[in-house]
Amino acid sequence: MATPKASSPRTDWKRRLKRWVLGSYRLGVILAALACLRTLPRDEASLDPALILKLSKEPIPAEVSSGDPSDGHYPLLDGAGETVGWATSTQPQAAKIQGYSGPSELMVVFGADRKVRGVRFLSSADTDGHVEKVRGDEPFWRQWDGKAEAALGAPGTPVVVSGATLTSEAMARGVAARFGAEGMDEWFPAALSLVDIAKAFPEADRISESGSNGIYQVFKKNEFIGTVLRSSRMGISARGYNGTSDVIVFLAPDGDRILGIGFLGSRDNEPYVSDVRDEVRYADGFAGKGVEAVLAEDVRVSPSLFTSGASYTNQAVVESVREMLSRHRAVEDAKGFPWKASLAFVWIGLGVFVGIHKVGNRLAVRLGYAAVSVVAGLTLGWMVSQDQLVGWGMNGFGVRGILPLLALTAAALVIPAFTGRNVYCNRICPHGAAQTLAGSLVRKRLHLPPKLHTALARLPWLTLLAIWALAFLVSGIPFARIEPFETWSSGFVAFIPAAILTVGLVAAFFLPQAYCHYGCPTGALLKFLTASPTAWTRRDTIAAVLIAAALLRVLL
Ligand code: SF4
Repeated sequence: MATPKASSPRTDWKRRLKRWVLGSYRLGVILAALACLRTLPRDEASLDPALILKLSKEPIPAEVSSGDPSDGHYPLLDGAGETVGWATSTQPQAAKIQGYSGPSELMVVFGADRKVRGVRFLSSADTDGHVEKVRGDEPFWRQWDGKAEAALGAPGTPVVVSGATLTSEAMARGVAARFGAEGMDEWFPAALSLVDIAKAFPEADRISESGSNGIYQVFKKNEFIGTVLRSSRMGISARGYNGTSDVIVFLAPDGDRILGIGFLGSRDNEPYVSDVRDEVRYADGFAGKGVEAVLAEDVRVSPSLFTSGASYTNQAVVESVREMLSRHRAVEDAKGFPWKASLAFVWIGLGVFVGIHKVGNRLAVRLGYAAVSVVAGLTLGWMVSQDQLVGWGMNGFGVRGILPLLALTAAALVIPAFTGRNVYCNRICPHGAAQTLAGSLVRKRLHLPPKLHTALARLPWLTLLAIWALAFLVSGIPFARIEPFETWSSGFVAFIPAAILTVGLVAAFFLPQAYCHYGCPTGALLKFLTASPTAWTRRDTIAAVLIAAALLRVLL
């Protein structure tokens, strides 16, 4: 019998070098794809040329076509190719400006003299009834006619539509924001003053905001005397009848006792606003209560908080106060030892160890660590997914608060690229681990006929291609909906992820790692890093072509 040839140190080195070079190339392809996503010209692509022409017909009666946009302005060209005007959308600048229940998008049409020829409605996420009212109001749409582009960034006092005030004002603010007005998404712009907090802290001489999260510390001669929480700065917008209110909560220095609440302003209707203002001023039901007691109280307005009853405005104030208190509690808790993040790092570190060391191949270790991963998935909810990667590529990410997810993603992408071992899929991924445990419970395993197996094994690759193609087309599709992972953190809320999770886990009892083999695009991406670690494959060529196409898409 022939003895297998032992490889020489020189051959080992060569193989290792090949693996590193190829691993770097494959990792580079993924990082380049993310970088390309980041540089996509999203804002200029939002206007459909056919829609521009349709809506410009009346403001610019000449026969026009639309040209390539620059800085979000689409030129309108006559038959001779001369520019006779421009059209532009109020997005993305208006995206944060909410009316009753959502932002709107308008189109502004200019003549060749850069004066407004017309403003037209494009879309709205606001309440249908209010939007319809605004759409039918001629004076509202005429208010910009004839104004120079340079004047549109001065918000002034817009014409608003009675009965749809918030929707129309939000649209008008969107136009101003598009042309440079700052703070249009801020409905309560005034800074917190000593007068606003005098009810609870009459002796205060300084207010200091910790960060920009709506939590303020109050001082008297440099002595800390309490905390103020402000709803509009914490991004809390519980609505009353017709809009949100700006509510403040005064807390004692220990942070556990409420000294009272204040009412800085409201977009809601009279007389409800005045009722709340009077009650807050003269019979503050929150004063003297413990934070825990208010958080534990029934969500509906209790007579102990508002004697004037449960109007929508009262209800909104109670909801805002409770939300502010619970967010403040979370911020305070986070100042302690970061248990969650520490446990996540232990879990990831252990996973990398059992994924690389041969001890991880023992059945008991494999199943034991799979159980740990399932518990980590259920409690921490962190998983690598296409939605997360595409989101990071498109919008970037802040390191604070997501360090464990960053470490998890780095372990998933970097370790396979340089070691050839897919530690994330093989050991760490909670969804993979759940399938491993399911498979270990049933002895009899099914095996698909080879042809069916080959056909189904292509599905993850095709899904991966489709996801990235749609991402580059800026489709806006939430990719979390086509993977099962969000169900681990949010529960059985969205139907499709929950269905994929259920079907995949049930199938895993009979078909080894069924979802991993026949469904998972994230698994396919990680397989791309590890398959044939020392040889150039057809997938590497396809990846090179796709990255070249992505670069062209970005550059052209
Ligand atoms: S293939 Fe997908 S589900 Fe399976 S282990 Fe990998 S990432 Fe998790």
